[in-house]
Amino acid sequence: MLTREVLQELIQVIGIENVLTEKEDLLTYAYDATAAMKHCMPEVVVTPLSTEHVAEIVKIAARHKVPIYPRGAGTNLSGGTIPIEGGIVLSMLNLNKILEVDQDNLTATVQPGVIIQALNDEVVKHGLLYPPDPGTITTATMGGSVSECSGGLRGLKYGVTKHYIMGLQIVLANGEVIRWGGKTVKNVTGYDLVALYTGAEGTLGIITEIIVKLIPAPEARKSIMAVFDDVDKAGNAIAAIIRNKIIPATLEIMDNVTIQTVENFVHAGLPMNAEAILLCEVDGYKEVVEREAVLVERVLSEEGAVEVKIAKNDQERDLLWLARRSALPALAQKRPTTVLEDATVPRSKIPDMLKAIRRIATKHNLQIATFGHAGDGNLHPTILTDVRDEEEMKRVHLAVEEIFETAIALGGTLSGEHGIGIAKMKFLDWEFGEAGVAALRSIKEALDPNYIMNPGKIVRRD
Ligand SMILES: Cc1cc2nc3c(=O)[nH]c(=O)nc-3n(C[C@H](O)[C@H](O)[C@H](O)COP(=O)(O)OP(=O)(O)OC[C@H]3O[C@@H](n4cnc5c(N)ncnc54)[C@H](O)[C@@H]3O)c2cc1C
Repeated sequence: MLTREVLQELIQVIGIENVLTEKEDLLTYAYDATAAMKHCMPEVVVTPLSTEHVAEIVKIAARHKVPIYPRGAGTNLSGGTIPIEGGIVLSMLNLNKILEVDQDNLTATVQPGVIIQALNDEVVKHGLLYPPDPGTITTATMGGSVSECSGGLRGLKYGVTKHYIMGLQIVLANGEVIRWGGKTVKNVTGYDLVALYTGAEGTLGIITEIIVKLIPAPEARKSIMAVFDDVDKAGNAIAAIIRNKIIPATLEIMDNVTIQTVENFVHAGLPMNAEAILLCEVDGYKEVVEREAVLVERVLSEEGAVEVKIAKNDQERDLLWLARRSALPALAQKRPTTVLEDATVPRSKIPDMLKAIRRIATKHNLQIATFGHAGDGNLHPTILTDVRDEEEMKRVHLAVEEIFETAIALGGTLSGEHGIGIAKMKFLDWEFGEAGVAALRSIKEALDPNYIMNPGKIVRRD
């Protein structure tokens, strides 16, 4: 229980106007975007306005051993922001300034509450790009996406968030403020703590400032849609494109259930009868893009696509990508609960993974729609279900386990981009073994000995 004394100390630091304690307000912070997850009420929500505020709040939490949960937009899909032990939710949304765009060093410095799209809207004015591009780019925060090491649609050519994080300011679990990394291209001083905190899901400290790497924005892009009457052919075509030495910026797959649902939702002209479509985008210098688009078209036809269409203009292109980005919201209309996973395999194993997902769906009599970042092996099998149906949910849990088992057996991983949170914690030793999990726990205990930083996520106290 949070004592009156703790509450008074918090109010003294950030003012009553930045402290929420009413049940109706707290309820909003009891959930995140993760489906089928029990909600948990925080005892207080605080909204700091500066790094100093964060440091003082963490010192209070440390002194009284109260759990503290950093939260951005709450769009994560692994239960990462659910305050499972009560305590303090730290909403980072008001730390939302873009502090600098440095064109000489190709970096930007931002506070964690900046929305990813807002950063891109700013840097594009200088002909630059911040490539990480999760489906929630217009709502998710920089702090949340760094803490999840988000991926997204451009991962195949440009990599994921960790490839763009050069420096961090962190409030440690004892309230001390430190900086790691910076604007230098090279930096091998000490352990790579910037890498450690990228993807740490708020379990080791609070990020209060981020230096990111920017790249020159590509001059041109072309989007291509390939229609398949067979999912396996679509799966094989993915590896074929790469084998032909073309690295598209984006290479996405949608299966038949996803296509039909999305088309009914956004009317983008998707082929309703297709078994699968691949959506591909090549970008770069205009001449290179023209050549690559023709090559991709040829490879896709050779791999058995029944139709290959290159978007003729920005409007057609935007419609294709709107369709892809609408996959989850559209599927969420079909049944009350959508359990979306992000098991990831080497891309050559995509056809095997697609087959396994269909087998698992049939075995457990479940409807599983599959879409995702196929080019980087990161599929999103999405189980359409109803959390109120206990019998069906038992089958859902079995199917989820089998999906993870299969991904690991194929040389893949539990999570390509959504993190571990609460949702996948119990599967960690399948991937790392007991000794591996113990190593993770010893890092947690070295940096947060009292388990106050987002407790109950990634690793639990032994
Ligand atoms: C429809 C939909 C599509 C999505 N598509 C993608 C996708 O394509 N690729 C992808 O990778 N993800 C995707 N996601 C997942 C999610 O949007 C991303 O992980 C996103 O980057 C999370 O940002 P957020 O601000 O919502 O973070 P939150 O959900 O608020 O927090 C995420 C984690 O970060 C921690 N955290 C937040 N701020 C801080 C901070 N300042 N310091 C330390 N820890 C902090 C939290 O405690 C939590 O553990 C999708 C989600 C949805 C609902």
